[in-house]
Amino acid sequence: MTEAVRVRFAPSPTGHLHIGGARTAIYNWAFARHHGGAFVLRIDDTDRERSTEENTQAILRALRWLGLDWDEGPEVGGAHGPYFQTQRSAIYREALEVLKSNGRAYPCFCTPAELEAMREAARERGGFSGYDRTCRAIAPEDAAARMAANEPHVWRVKVPDTRGDIAVNDAIRGPVTWPRDAMDDFILVRTDTTPTYMFATVVDDWRMGITHIIRGDDHLSNTPRQIVVYEALGAPVPAFGHMSLIFGADGKRLSKRHGATSVEAYRDEGILPEALLNYLAILGWSIDDKTTIFDRDTLVREFDLSRVSRNPAVWDPEKLEWMNGVYIREMPGDVFAERIGDRLVQAGMMTAEEAAERREWLRELAPLVADRVKRMTEIVPVVSFLFAESVDIEEPARLKVLEKEGAGRALDAARETLSSIDPFTAEAVEEALRAVPEQLEVKPKVVFQAVRVAISGTTVSPPLFESIALLGKDAVLARIDAARPLAAD
Ligand code: GLU
Repeated sequence: MTEAVRVRFAPSPTGHLHIGGARTAIYNWAFARHHGGAFVLRIDDTDRERSTEENTQAILRALRWLGLDWDEGPEVGGAHGPYFQTQRSAIYREALEVLKSNGRAYPCFCTPAELEAMREAARERGGFSGYDRTCRAIAPEDAAARMAANEPHVWRVKVPDTRGDIAVNDAIRGPVTWPRDAMDDFILVRTDTTPTYMFATVVDDWRMGITHIIRGDDHLSNTPRQIVVYEALGAPVPAFGHMSLIFGADGKRLSKRHGATSVEAYRDEGILPEALLNYLAILGWSIDDKTTIFDRDTLVREFDLSRVSRNPAVWDPEKLEWMNGVYIREMPGDVFAERIGDRLVQAGMMTAEEAAERREWLRELAPLVADRVKRMTEIVPVVSFLFAESVDIEEPARLKVLEKEGAGRALDAARETLSSIDPFTAEAVEEALRAVPEQLEVKPKVVFQAVRVAISGTTVSPPLFESIALLGKDAVLARIDAARPLAAD
């Protein structure tokens, strides 16, 4: 029987959920779901100064917003808790007891000054700069006496003197090896009895039964030391998969310099969770050579570590935006209409009651907007002209359109024909306006652009005839009247 897959995402709440972290979470989640295993969320909050409750909440919120659910972890509990490292001290103490009794850890009493002198001497010799194992030679009775006398000490792992390599067959990078003799007896437990990252992570992953550790390759170099800890504990070594980090187009590791880096910043900039999930999924993984747009179920069905790329992933905001536009256009009309309503209510352009009353109107508006926006935040600016009492005509629109010869006559003719339409539907508006250029013997564009600028103030509004119909006859005529004095004859 194969062992049930158990994976984890272990963010440190020292900041909000970064898109790199989100991608790690997505891959772990998809791997767990694909294999019918468990996705565990653990909060690595050992850095007490920089970890905050606010950040933890923001991380949970961002994961949920992306549609990721966890089987064990904060707020859902589980059999392997607690799921905050700061609440697991007893578990680390027990693990240290294992190493004390099997002789794989020893107390080290070297002071910071002694360690510094040791490093200095090593630098001069140009030799191995790690810990020189002074305290490994202390007899156990002597060590016990010094501890009983409260002499400050850390606990170090006893790295075996075995020659050869530590080898891992990384599920993403393939075989990786490290020479064993390059490793020093690193610290597991600090003088203040808190565990180091190296120790806490291994103890947690062991005790939580984690079978696969899928994480960024900034942790690849920690792997050999973690394997030494697993071996010392007599714990099974899990499988590892290290994915390449995300870089900006300039080849530098993604950072604030490249724009927004937190998931919630993308949410606030009008990116849809489905689009961000899809984009992060293909940022370093692929189904095949051609499929770029796929849903959550497809991701789960197809996800496989063997198709995670070893090459650095390059963050491409334009591609994300393009993908977001695809998701907006594919959203069912009534869902999008509701989202438009929400945004208009938020922007104070409608009350919630009005949004409910005008559901049909919003539904007609939806397809016109969907074709025009790539981000949800663009909705309000695109449709705001429909709500304003009057429009401000943009300077370039005035110069390029209204001041062109014939614009005034076009507005006059348009006004006349529009005023006689009843009912005021998009089809009737179109039919009426299409007759005007012929009648005036001008190009259609002259008429359509003049009317567009008059009603929206810009040269780029949603489709003209539909916009006119949605605006309603009275408002359209009033706007034409307001624009008319600005137009050349
Ligand atoms: N808390 C660690 C981090 O955020 C997780 C380390 C790991 O995945 O092993 O980098």
